[in-house]
Amino acid sequence: MPDVLLKVSHLKKYFPIRAGLLQKTVGYVKAVDDVNLEINRGETFGLVGESGCGKSTTGRSILRLIEPTSGEIQFDGRDIHSLSGAQMRGMYRDMQLVFQDPYASLNPRKTIEKLIEEPMIIHNMYTPGERKKKVHELLELVGLNAYHASRYPHEFSGGQRQRIGIARALGLQPKLVICDEPVSALDVSIQSQVLNLLKQLQQQLHLTYMFIAHDLSVVKHISDRVGVMYLGRIVELSDKKSLYEKPLHPYTQALLSAVPVANPNAKHERIILEGDVPSPANPPTGCTFHPRCSACMDICRTERPVLRDIGDGHMVACHLYNQ
Ligand code: SF4
Repeated sequence: MPDVLLKVSHLKKYFPIRAGLLQKTVGYVKAVDDVNLEINRGETFGLVGESGCGKSTTGRSILRLIEPTSGEIQFDGRDIHSLSGAQMRGMYRDMQLVFQDPYASLNPRKTIEKLIEEPMIIHNMYTPGERKKKVHELLELVGLNAYHASRYPHEFSGGQRQRIGIARALGLQPKLVICDEPVSALDVSIQSQVLNLLKQLQQQLHLTYMFIAHDLSVVKHISDRVGVMYLGRIVELSDKKSLYEKPLHPYTQALLSAVPVANPNAKHERIILEGDVPSPANPPTGCTFHPRCSACMDICRTERPVLRDIGDGHMVACHLYNQ
């Protein structure tokens, strides 16, 4: 039996649309609309989709940095959706976020030592002497040096700043780290260094990751299982091998066709997605992917497909697999 660390059930996050002088609610942007997923202890779960599909909102709603509209979040056997603000702050020792833009997330007026020790101070961990030692250990753990502690964020490159962001997140010895597009802002050559570092830290510190990205090639490198999101919902979820070798959902097939292949002689047909992602404030009826889907059938325009296991834990929400 898998050891489930995080279980998310029917998670929804609707943002109200207000209009008029009285700012009345006239509708909702359904950024996350009934997401269900489980992450096992020690694994990396990749969450992928185009920008605006709700993947970052899902990550932040799980951490309750954005308050979910409804749903259940079980973390390490506890229902964290019902925790008070103070109780939730205590949970942040175990659940940390690594941001996409490390520069924006690091206060430029603080030294690296102050930035890394700050979460430990908030959580009342260690004496000042122990914290200093810990900061130096963390810097070395992420491939920097103890002498970097007295420097400021602007003195570092993008890749180094992301290493500092990771060190800051790891200071509390979390169980789960939600990595929100942690390499999207970095050069491709630096991306693989940071991904390798995350993998190495996972093994060393027995971490569990949720890895959010818009690029299926980035997620492939690091994930054990992958969920593909479209307009606030997971449309396909499976182990990595099955998803990359036999993608079922037409949206996943299109995303994968855009991933460059190493062998230029390999047969590789790019599927061009027509049109833009529709607005989550006014999603299409039935399958929300139907206006862009080349396999669209009549039923797709009226009935929303349910995410179903079609064998070996490979789940897909598409009428093509209803037989
Ligand atoms: Fe395409 Fe229909 Fe499947 Fe949606 S349900 S992805 S429209 S075939």
